[in-house]
Amino acid sequence: MRYHIITFGCQMNVHDSEKIAGMLTELGYEKCDSAEQADVIVINTCCIRETAESKAISKIGSLKQIKDKHPEKIVAVCGCMTQAGDNSQKLSERFPFIDIIFGTHNIHHFKDYLLERRELGKKVVEIWEREEGAIDDVPVLTGNSVSAFVNIIYGCNNFCTYCIVPYVRGRERSRPFEAIYSEVKKLIEGDYKEVVLLGQNVNSYGNDIGGMKFYQLLDKLSKIEGKYRLRFMTSHPKDFDDNLIRVIRDNERVCNSIHLPVQSGSDRILKAMNRNYTAADYLKIIEKIYKHIPDCGITSDFMVGFPGETDEDFKATLDLVKKVRYNGCYMFVYSRRKGTPAAEWEQVPDEVKKQRIVELISLQNQITKEINREKYLGNTFEILVDGKHDKREGLYCGKTECGRLINFEGDESHIGQFLNVKVTKSATSALFGEICA
Ligand code: SF4
Repeated sequence: MRYHIITFGCQMNVHDSEKIAGMLTELGYEKCDSAEQADVIVINTCCIRETAESKAISKIGSLKQIKDKHPEKIVAVCGCMTQAGDNSQKLSERFPFIDIIFGTHNIHHFKDYLLERRELGKKVVEIWEREEGAIDDVPVLTGNSVSAFVNIIYGCNNFCTYCIVPYVRGRERSRPFEAIYSEVKKLIEGDYKEVVLLGQNVNSYGNDIGGMKFYQLLDKLSKIEGKYRLRFMTSHPKDFDDNLIRVIRDNERVCNSIHLPVQSGSDRILKAMNRNYTAADYLKIIEKIYKHIPDCGITSDFMVGFPGETDEDFKATLDLVKKVRYNGCYMFVYSRRKGTPAAEWEQVPDEVKKQRIVELISLQNQITKEINREKYLGNTFEILVDGKHDKREGLYCGKTECGRLINFEGDESHIGQFLNVKVTKSATSALFGEICA
């Protein structure tokens, strides 16, 4: 019996798919590379942007042919899209061949739904309106033998006016420290070389259960013996704590790398987004980070074309990018999400959004090129090799502590190793290097 999982969206979804893979493995299924070969096909959807939703819908539609030929195959659809509004009902009507539909709150019951469908032939559509605490007893099959994700907090309380996440992932639920500690320890003892702590807002860790704060959790985890790296994402600037900078600076195992989404450089837009900080507050944090950890790799998320964004607001965003000089950025066009306040506001024309995103990407590309030349070219970095280049044969890649990817000529034996690599060539976003003795 074989399974194939298609995942859309962020690391949270990738990790949810690892849990679905864990449950399928417990039931005796093995992973395969295509929907055609699989007995169970799972589509884990995302609805953060319209494009992610359209891609998932078109993928589901493409499975009809397979189901027509092989009705015994089981198709399951889950994730943020099925959790939102009446999407599960709509999907079930539009694609009657789907066997199982479930949401983000009841993912841990997938095994029961699959058995119900397999043994009793019942179609299952089950979405839970409410979350059930922080679920801890789900098996995980990690997709990678070097780096593993560990959830520390689920959900979000922030309700940024453009974001659907609090509606589909529920309120913040922190996992108990003991559960996180033992999972991380087991991974490190199992020879994983990197653990990425996940949460929509890791800085809120512990607020709902009292006791330990995120910086204390990170500090304790970094005391586990062994050679490994700890990373975390995502941080919210309004909750960013000076203690965290100290923990990152003082612990070798915690990477000098921070993903700190700002979204906009305009105070007017930040207010409308309900982000609860100003551009000046954000820049103050950046200043502190660079003061205490000069080589820190800072990355961010930006959204252009938020309702009401003027040329002046957009200019403020460009100015902020120039000031911070990010190691890299994820840049998006605002996407209207039904059910969020901003979806009801007057929208920026598509043409304007397109011009702005092109300008922002080109500015960041220019900065990345300059940083590559000034900071990386000719210098040697320790990287953790986590896999092969996805297109070029013989090329392998790994990340520096700051999170920059370096490609080099290597072999399978390098995967999972810490290597010193000298950067010999830099393209706009990619770096290439040679292994040093
Ligand atoms: S912090 Fe804002 S953008 Fe991030 S998940 Fe929560 S609501 Fe969405």
